[in-house]
Amino acid sequence: MFNLILFGPPGSGKGTQSEKLIEKYGFKHLSTGDLLRSEIANKTPLGIEAKNFMDKGQLVPDEVVIGMISSALDANKDVNGFLFDGFPRTTAQAEALDKLLSLNKTAIGALIALQVPDDELISRMLHRAKTSGRSDDADENIQRKRLDVYRNETLPVAGYYREFNKVVDIQGVGTINEIFEKLCSVIDKKMAAQREEENAG
Ligand code: AMP
Repeated sequence: MFNLILFGPPGSGKGTQSEKLIEKYGFKHLSTGDLLRSEIANKTPLGIEAKNFMDKGQLVPDEVVIGMISSALDANKDVNGFLFDGFPRTTAQAEALDKLLSLNKTAIGALIALQVPDDELISRMLHRAKTSGRSDDADENIQRKRLDVYRNETLPVAGYYREFNKVVDIQGVGTINEIFEKLCSVIDKKMAAQREEENAG
């Protein structure tokens, strides 16, 4: 089992690349943003609570998203690996994820961090707002808030996994296919290294 975190600021292309990666590798895609938007669409109490935070560009409380991920892991026991997209977004979430995975006798294989300049992120979010219907994409002030939250609360997650030698940075600028090829080459290497370790151990 190989588990991947696709990491990067809002607008860095995590969703687009995740779709291609799940098709190629058969990962189970877990996007906390998508799970939350589906709770909102279904008007559940969790969705109603989460919407207040999301509309302001703030993070939804850790215990809410950790609970959602825990249920999703339990509901998908027979997959060959998870692709985490937009999660973990705080070090508390990262620690909780590692605990949940270790209970299932598995771990994070790699965190790939997409690097994209701020101006490009803002223009991509504005472009996405035209078709996504996402209110948090349409307003430049909310976007800047989301980028601040990313820098202050989410970037330390990469630092956390760097200590375990699990982080690979790649430039998230170029065509969708160019970025996809870079991602695949990193994943193939990390998967091979994990297989070697498993065989040696
Ligand atoms: P995303 O679709 O990943 O850009 O997420 C949209 C919004 O959902 C974020 O701005 C947060 O308000 C919320 N959200 C998504 N994932 C998380 C998470 N792991 N922790 C806290 N809030 C989250």
